[in-house]
Amino acid sequence: MILPVYSTYFVTKIADRHLIYAPLHGLSAILNEKQLTQLQRACRGEVDNVDPVIVEMARRLAEPMRPPTIPQGRIASPLFLGIITTRDCDMKCRYCDFVPSAQSRVVMDLETGRAGVDAYLRLLVDNGINEGEIQFFGGEPFFQNTIIESLVAYARHGASKEGVSVAFNVTTNGLMSGKRAMWVADNFDAVVLSFDGAAFQDLHRPLLNGHGSYALVHRTAKILSEGKTDLVIRVCVTRESAARLPDLARELAETYIPGSVCFEPLTDSPLSAANNLFPPEPVEFARQFFLAEDILLEHGIAAASSGTDIDSLQAGFCPVGRDAILISPSGEINACYLMETEWMRADLDLKFGRVNAASREFLFDLEKLESIRDIPRHPPILCGTCLCRYHCAGGCHVNHRQIRQDGEYDSVCIRTRLVTIGKILRRMGASDLYLRWLDELSLNPNH
Ligand code: SF4
Ligand code: SF4
Repeated sequence: MILPVYSTYFVTKIADRHLIYAPLHGLSAILNEKQLTQLQRACRGEVDNVDPVIVEMARRLAEPMRPPTIPQGRIASPLFLGIITTRDCDMKCRYCDFVPSAQSRVVMDLETGRAGVDAYLRLLVDNGINEGEIQFFGGEPFFQNTIIESLVAYARHGASKEGVSVAFNVTTNGLMSGKRAMWVADNFDAVVLSFDGAAFQDLHRPLLNGHGSYALVHRTAKILSEGKTDLVIRVCVTRESAARLPDLARELAETYIPGSVCFEPLTDSPLSAANNLFPPEPVEFARQFFLAEDILLEHGIAAASSGTDIDSLQAGFCPVGRDAILISPSGEINACYLMETEWMRADLDLKFGRVNAASREFLFDLEKLESIRDIPRHPPILCGTCLCRYHCAGGCHVNHRQIRQDGEYDSVCIRTRLVTIGKILRRMGASDLYLRWLDELSLNPNH
């Protein structure tokens, strides 16, 4: 399906046309067979009888471009500070394999959190940076603690003393009192709310006691919609719910006020399979995503899915190797959101330091940091010829590791590529071509 021509541009056969996509050059085009041959000739310097528009394209493609890079040396510009207040959670989602353990019940103590904030602000100031970002994660970051309220106030005060402006983000399941939701709505720049909508929330995301969570999370979503925060609704999409994405898009757009809706296909796990929940089939997901995106765009809402943002170029998929500082509840500094046991299973060590609460500084292990940066520096070989190279950039290093061994696109890659191509073609006004191509792929999945 995909014929790499040069590593800086990619050619994808779309029905009877060819999509040329050069993300580093900001160039895309749809060519027929004859035009593609002309382009390939022009790229070799053979310009006789070649359409001048194609010659100009070849000239642009020959311009040297610098791909995004992974940092090196000491940390001079951290991507963000992540604070994981607890690994524990008050939901029992049917697709989440997370098993509560003694480690998961640890809640960050306030002094560790404050020391992390102090060390982060110092790092910014020492490097002449006057804008920062603090993100809170869990488990469920608000579960069984009120540390976030204290840390936001503390960080805001410290930042204003240092002349630094800090943005606050949180990722939450939305189980909170109305009062706390109002506080979140007013105090966070962005909230990522995991929410599967009226038809699937209770089915996918029950409470610990087995009751449905829809009513509570709906209330939170309504409150967040009224606040100053940028609400991002994150939907986990299963094979069954994929067919309903347009309905879900309409429901979310008409009931709440999100800035964007992120549709994330379910990640296969033994628990999800035992609960009869499976990832969506790639072509069906891409088609329904495209239709849902139409509806969201009509309401001025962006549609997203991991690794398919064509508006930005990145050298790595996630915080790993990009100098994010993620502090675990016990004060260790990690590069990944997941628990150590999970990266260990993937044969990765993503810990590179700890917070020193006494000296209020980060103690980095620079050798470990460098080996973590090497992970996105050396993406799977397959990614080098993939048009998502600078968007998806290899995918999750823990959960999508197998393609390093397999050397062929798996269903996650196919889905990512199809959605990305849909975004490119929509922008080029070629939606009909895209939907026709998806129809062809449905009839001939091995194409
Ligand atoms: S992980 Fe798959 S989709 Fe992503 S860049 Fe690599 S080959 Fe492409
Ligand atoms: S490796 Fe995977 S789980 Fe870890 S931060 Fe990256 S995307 Fe998230």
